[in-house]
Amino acid sequence: MCKRFLWTGKAELTRKSLVAWSRLCHPQSAGGLNFIDIFLWNKSDVCKLLWNMCMKKDKLWAKWIHAYYGKGRSVWEIEPKQASWVVQKIFKAKKKYFDEAGFSRIELQVVQQPSIKSIYQRLQGQFDKVSWKGIICGKQGSPKWIFILRLAALERLYTCDRLIKWGMDNIDEQCQLCRGAPKTLNHVFFTCPFSGSIWLRLLQWLHINGTNMGWDDELKLAETWCKGRSSRAKVYEIVLAATVYYVWK
Ligand SMILES: [Zn+2]
Repeated sequence: MCKRFLWTGKAELTRKSLVAWSRLCHPQSAGGLNFIDIFLWNKSDVCKLLWNMCMKKDKLWAKWIHAYYGKGRSVWEIEPKQASWVVQKIFKAKKKYFDEAGFSRIELQVVQQPSIKSIYQRLQGQFDKVSWKGIICGKQGSPKWIFILRLAALERLYTCDRLIKWGMDNIDEQCQLCRGAPKTLNHVFFTCPFSGSIWLRLLQWLHINGTNMGWDDELKLAETWCKGRSSRAKVYEIVLAATVYYVWK
């Protein structure tokens, strides 16, 4: 359900995708949803087969390839032009994917049997962590609240400034809560008098003196409040996620 919500399926051409699929394959700390990038996983799989061919020479299939195509040469020198598609694919991996994953030939000899996942992570490379990861990754509150909070943090909710950017016209720009200002992300969370008053009352309940700020500042402040494992940090996380969800709803 979440996937369909985020990504325009073939049957639903009228909807825009909220977040790029490649972004969703990033780890949660980098603002993604940790979906598996199936193409990259396939590359890792082929790399694992190549590693087995280099290191598990006692296996029958590896023995066969070494005897039939290798004829005494090392794996790195074999160019099996007559081999089947599958075998050729495995050998091509040594040039492309192994370098991409940052494995050197020497390292290959000493590295413990790598899991497909570890190769996948090396192929993925490093990610810049998002500053608001602490608010999302603590997983306090209902998953649907966190899901919407994540979209708000990524600035991907259907606010009217975004809809206009997509070239949509004839949209009701006014905030339905106060009928006073355009429904932008900064307005809804929480400079809007209506949603702002709800947020201030919840902050009071948390014994925090707050003022109504726009979403950018609100998010920065939340990063500070949600640091650490104190119960207050956890409650703040839950209250923010619930407020964003229900105001948006
Ligand atoms: Zn409003």
